[in-house]
Amino acid sequence: MITVEEAEEIVLAQSKSYGTQNLPFEQALGHVLAEDIKADRDLPPFNRVTMDGIAISYKAIEQGITSFKIKATQAAGEQPLDIYTIDECIEIMTGASLSPSLDTIIRYEDLEIDNGIARLLITDIRQGQNIHQKGKDKKEGGVVAIAGQLITPAIISLAASVGKAEVLVKKQPRVMIISSGDELVDVADTPSAFQIRRSNNYTVKAVLAQHGLVADMLHIPDDPDATRQQIQHCLQNYDVLLLSGGISMGKFDYIPQALQDLDVEKLFYKVLQRPGKPFWFGRHNNGTLVFAFPGNPVATFMCVHRYFLPWLNVTLGLPVKNNIYARLANDFIFTPALKYFLQVKLSYTPQAELFATPVEGNGSGDFANLADTDAFMELPLDRSEFKQGEVFKVHIF
Ligand code: AMP
Ligand code: MG
Repeated sequence: MITVEEAEEIVLAQSKSYGTQNLPFEQALGHVLAEDIKADRDLPPFNRVTMDGIAISYKAIEQGITSFKIKATQAAGEQPLDIYTIDECIEIMTGASLSPSLDTIIRYEDLEIDNGIARLLITDIRQGQNIHQKGKDKKEGGVVAIAGQLITPAIISLAASVGKAEVLVKKQPRVMIISSGDELVDVADTPSAFQIRRSNNYTVKAVLAQHGLVADMLHIPDDPDATRQQIQHCLQNYDVLLLSGGISMGKFDYIPQALQDLDVEKLFYKVLQRPGKPFWFGRHNNGTLVFAFPGNPVATFMCVHRYFLPWLNVTLGLPVKNNIYARLANDFIFTPALKYFLQVKLSYTPQAELFATPVEGNGSGDFANLADTDAFMELPLDRSEFKQGEVFKVHIF
């Protein structure tokens, strides 16, 4: 049996690029950018008014002028309007493009307007105030988003502003989520007294969706031929198979044999961890990876977070977020010689210290408990007593 760290290393060593593709920018959220996005013109593209009010020439202030004849009104999106004498002003709205003859904006709040004349109510006026200068944010051709960044709503906004209707993104792996077990019925079905509804596949699909990945789902009955045939089909059509269940020592656990018959090379089987000890990981010679997680819902959930998501991040060139630490809020004892993934509830103290309070469930089948927790705390394998205040790694879900 191998350790969690060894298993992680083997899994991460299997990350590889799946190429790139063009996507309409509106569909690119959650993907990873594979090209730099550049400004197609200065940002902002003109001297942009940032307050509703009047536009004047600062020369008027230098000459002590305090009231201005309103020459015209300019809305956002209209041609810039000029003044001809410095005692004139343009009534102007936020978002309007300022003419070169004007360089200072006075807000309505600082004015009194009567009979076409705007009078200043303030004396402290700065040249250039309330104007977002052309090119202040970016010059034409400047990079606004760098290749390798995760596409967030802010990047969607930038793509929209610079007219980038299509963006080049890293291709995501095609993932099939496979559940197995004759005791499992579909969500809409009514289980008999000795059946349960399948949930793992939906959980895994939801975790992947949170990370911008859309996966397919399939259920396989506990039958050796069907198991082999269906997995064979998936091996040919997907980059990654995420299985749950059917890999332990049970009489009807046909998956390890099927994987062996289909020439999926076993890279490891069984990890020194709880939950999730019978985790099986391998690779078909066509490159398809197989993560076969134990069926217990908490084991599947933990393994997806601890192994699949880091693999996905490395594959897409994103940082692996595995450097978050918290303090244990209570003493805790776990004696088996396994790394224990303790379910914890996280909270910050006013001193900005992260604390992890154990929320004890009933073992790896207790999925209900997960809803009350927000992370797994990784307790080292070579110890059995863990003291309040000690610091350990946490994996936030
Ligand atoms: P197995 O790994 O197939 O021995 O399954 C271990 C436990 O997890 C059994 O109680 C199964 O009923 C349960 N289980 C397996 N797959 C699922 C699933 N997709 N949804 C919910 N429970 C499951
Ligand atoms: Mg089973």
